Amino acid sequence: MHLSATLPAHWRQAFRRIGRTLVDGVLPPRCLACGVVVGEPDALCGRCWASMTFFAPPWCAACGLPFPHPMGEGAVCADCARDRASWDRARSVMRYDKHSRHLVLGLKHGDRTHLAKALGGWMHRAGGEILERADFIVPVPLHWTRLFARRYNQASLLAHAIHAAGGPPVAPDWLVRRRRTPSQGRLGAAARTRNVRGAFFLRPGRSVKGRRLVIVDDVLTTGATAEECARVLRRGGAGFVGVLTLARALRAGG
Ligand SMILES: [Zn+2]
Ligand SMILES: [Zn+2]
Repeated sequence: MHLSATLPAHWRQAFRRIGRTLVDGVLPPRCLACGVVVGEPDALCGRCWASMTFFAPPWCAACGLPFPHPMGEGAVCADCARDRASWDRARSVMRYDKHSRHLVLGLKHGDRTHLAKALGGWMHRAGGEILERADFIVPVPLHWTRLFARRYNQASLLAHAIHAAGGPPVAPDWLVRRRRTPSQGRLGAAARTRNVRGAFFLRPGRSVKGRRLVIVDDVLTTGATAEECARVLRRGGAGFVGVLTLARALRAGG
């Protein structure tokens, strides 16, 4: 009888783990989304990669919404043609859906802050066009009471990771959240707009006049928060306002 067969199962497992650690030098890297062992750190396994919808051109020149067919240089989607947002350009890495939700929520509520490095790298790639000539990245702030409870702001983590990946410097405290807005989770578009109206202001003494800024957040849902932040920066005289998010919700079928 083989020695290992006489050991209790959890011992065998522990020995195997120690053996592997000794061989690899470190614990094996795991898929960022589902946790299976993968070949390289900060990556997704093939299944998770295939399940997620990464945005790619052709897309709306303004908001980055993917088009089913090439529409020509500078073409914008129906929403952008109808309404002028306060920001100039927006880009997102991926669609916010049941597959990407796990990554987003893990970063936001799950203390999986180590995700930020990889996700920030993806955002740096997806936002290349708007980051290229930007002066600063401005993360969407949390209200201080929420920051106190959560201990970190996921938008700040992403902003610093984008900078670490080669992006512009972070202006961490230029935007301030004036009041604690109720969670946007179950609100519709109109309610979200009301909810964040007047919620942000520019920290006194900070001048954004003529600056090229990119607002960073984890998810763009209706766009109400990004719009409100962009309005504040625009009112302060910003020369360019971009919006870069990890994920973006699309209407069903969109
Ligand atoms: Zn996976
Ligand atoms: Zn658009």
